[in-house]
Amino acid sequence: KVKKQGKNGHLFYTEDLSDQMIARVELESDLRKAIERDELVVYYQPQFHAEDNRLIGVEALVRWNHPSRGILSPGVFIPIAEETGMIYEIGTWVLREACRQMKQWHREGGPLIPVSVNLSAHQFHQPNLVEYIRSILEETKLDPQYLELEITESMMMDPAVSINILHELNKIGTRISLDDFGTGYSSLSYLKKFPIHKLKIDRSFIADLSENQNDQAIVATIIAMAQNLKLDVIAEGIETKDQLDILTENDCKKIQGYYFSSPLAASEVEKAFFIPSRVSQ
Ligand code: C2E
Ligand code: MG
Ligand code: MG
Ligand code: MG
Repeated sequence: KVKKQGKNGHLFYTEDLSDQMIARVELESDLRKAIERDELVVYYQPQFHAEDNRLIGVEALVRWNHPSRGILSPGVFIPIAEETGMIYEIGTWVLREACRQMKQWHREGGPLIPVSVNLSAHQFHQPNLVEYIRSILEETKLDPQYLELEITESMMMDPAVSINILHELNKIGTRISLDDFGTGYSSLSYLKKFPIHKLKIDRSFIADLSENQNDQAIVATIIAMAQNLKLDVIAEGIETKDQLDILTENDCKKIQGYYFSSPLAASEVEKAFFIPSRVSQ
């Protein structure tokens, strides 16, 4: 990686590490300016119903169009945003932008589908979360039933506190989905107490689904459990027909993954799925 010849391996390592630290500090200071410079973009990954392939929702996934590095994925900058507290500003921006876009699509005659927005742990535990979601919904005029918030099991470490927040969100009328389901520790006894609407089967169970019988058993069990608890269920990360077939055979009809579509810019969603008249004008 580093061309310079150090006298020993230790020197090598130190140079490498300080390079990394400089890169990290630069990224952090760039990120502080990203919002005002309008560099953040929301992509939307379509979700489908397997029976008739109709569009049933989209998940908002933030991207950073970095001036010199190109498009950066959230895996690169969301952790920095969380560590530095910038996640509040970024998260609020994403929520507002996703709600604004979905309301615009509804107004323009697009399908009445919901948008899912990911919340980070910090956001979820932010004291004014419910207040600012309410105000974003008022500002954008999006009907709350069309906003789905994605949280993860790992955010629910203190179940009593989490249940309170979830009840508050339910009062506003938003829907709640448990993302990456199966990868965290959730006690099944709490699962039935959480006022949530949907389980989202993590893609780590889908990746080897065709070959791995354990994954097949886990996925079938999650689907059956969701049905018994009267929860909606969707699978993410579907890349092959085989995976799709196994899921539908097990009665999971809601699907998200590259097999159908990768996350798309808003204009691409319009072109591919609705408002053809506007595109051709
Ligand atoms: P996630 O919420 O589980 O989102 C799904 C991730 O899987 C997305 O990655 C998506 O592009 C990717 N994906 C979708 N279909 C497939 C597939 O068929 N195969 C594979 N291998 N991957 C697929 P992305 O966009 O890089 O986002 C990564 C994570 O970053 C998200 O995981 C979410 O936890 C977080 N994230 C994204 N946007 C936001 C945001 O606005 N706020 C917060 N707090 N977190 C976000
Ligand atoms: Mg998600
Ligand atoms: Mg996630
Ligand atoms: Mg996920």
